[in-house]
Amino acid sequence: MKVSPHPISTEVVKELKQIVGEEWVVTKKELTSSYLYDQTPEPVRPTASDNVIVVKPKDAKSVSQILIMANKHKIPVFPRGGGTGLVGGCIPTASGIVLSLERMKNISIDRENLFAEVEAGVTLGELIEAVEKVGLFFPPHPGDEGAQLGGLIACNAGGARAVKTGVMRNYVKGVEVVLPTGEILTLGGKLLKNNLGYDLMQLIIGSEGTLGIITKAWVRLSPKQLFYATLIIPFNHREKALKIAPKILQSGISPLAIEYVERELVEQTAKELNLNWPCGEGLHQLIIILEESSEEALLQHCEKLLTLSKEYEALEPIIAERSEEQKQILKIRSEIGLILLKDTIDILDISVPPSALSSLIEEAEKLAQMIGLKIALLGHAGDGNIHLHILKTEGSNIQKRYEEYKTKIYQKAIEFGGTITGEHGIGCIKKPYFVQFVDENTLKVMKAIKRLFDPNNILNPGKILP
Ligand SMILES: Cc1cc2nc3c(=O)[nH]c(=O)nc-3n(C[C@H](O)[C@H](O)[C@H](O)COP(=O)(O)OP(=O)(O)OC[C@H]3O[C@@H](n4cnc5c(N)ncnc54)[C@H](O)[C@@H]3O)c2cc1C
Repeated sequence: MKVSPHPISTEVVKELKQIVGEEWVVTKKELTSSYLYDQTPEPVRPTASDNVIVVKPKDAKSVSQILIMANKHKIPVFPRGGGTGLVGGCIPTASGIVLSLERMKNISIDRENLFAEVEAGVTLGELIEAVEKVGLFFPPHPGDEGAQLGGLIACNAGGARAVKTGVMRNYVKGVEVVLPTGEILTLGGKLLKNNLGYDLMQLIIGSEGTLGIITKAWVRLSPKQLFYATLIIPFNHREKALKIAPKILQSGISPLAIEYVERELVEQTAKELNLNWPCGEGLHQLIIILEESSEEALLQHCEKLLTLSKEYEALEPIIAERSEEQKQILKIRSEIGLILLKDTIDILDISVPPSALSSLIEEAEKLAQMIGLKIALLGHAGDGNIHLHILKTEGSNIQKRYEEYKTKIYQKAIEFGGTITGEHGIGCIKKPYFVQFVDENTLKVMKAIKRLFDPNNILNPGKILP
């Protein structure tokens, strides 16, 4: 842990208590310790300062007062949602205030306009439950339901369904945001069309807590579709499994998810969860979720999919129709990353045009062999976003080899027209690579935007930008 001088005087603590109430300013180390990390793999997780206090405001006005005060005293503020981030984005890397939105929990659903007004601290799980209770659907589903709405927007999170429904950016139509200097802005709202000048809301989405603190958002909802099927389609050759993904979309079928898994890994995950993976064939498998408005459409798309699979030399598929069966398949898929975490050095989240995914993975394996590393692969095959786990390996110069691998595979991704992160963002741990691969002029504009929003660099300092 990084020990640095405490910049927070007793007067400041007193002022914070006046703003949010005594019980919502946490100073005891045993109570702040769970706010010092996120889900970033430990070997690359940034070191947190042990001199932090945690403050839990209830509304945008309190957030504004906290930021005005922090700005005056130049105290770093680290916004924190559910702490499920994978790049160290919410970790307080300097002495300062962890600002947790966990008390901001209101949800108001507008069925007439298919919108929800949601406060930042509502978790994805809570939002799904509230929306489903009134027969509606919130389409995006980034893996961990403990993530909060503020964090999901700040990271522009994606998830398995992005291939059909898009990422958070496609569902957020308005945000209330507090700037580091304390101004409260309402950008957009329950609006499907809005051309009022520069779209600052889009700048806030994906800004990883560096430009403002999101306190509320207006998100779009959909009517719930009633007919679902989950297919597991096995292949002996990875190339065939990945090459079919763009063809499925070209054929007019729009699956809710097209996920790639390696059979050995998914079976091992199922075993650790005391569950059974229902498909024992092939080395490589696609999990495809179909969602349709009628049983007839579901059957039709299932048949079309099976015909196409045969052309790509698929083996015998499994079709799960019962809701329980489908949930179990999804649970196992969702847990792979967590099961792998203990053996993982770093998770790369490369995104390339979907048709290039197969070639990228081939390069990833070749490089791993050349450098002498072990990797595990899984990911969102439908949208070209792969999660590549670099696994712990014994041997000499290991740190240097990990770094070499990352630089080389990122370079390949760029050559294929891709990017170093499709979902997880930059946070702390991807900063050196971001600087390496972003062009100079873009970086200059980004730095100027940060200076404009946050002249004293108090909000999430040291994240994204050098
Ligand atoms: C098992 C697992 C599966 C995952 N699957 C996916 C996936 O499929 N797709 C995907 O995209 N991600 C995935 N993630 C990553 C993670 O869930 C997302 O990045 C999510 O958006 C983080 O939300 P959070 O509330 O936990 O944010 P935190 O981790 O608390 O913070 C993340 C960043 O957002 C900032 N932030 C948080 N709240 C606010 C706010 N109110 N205002 C401004 N800034 C804020 C923080 O400062 C930090 O920079 C997964 C993570 C896990 C552990």
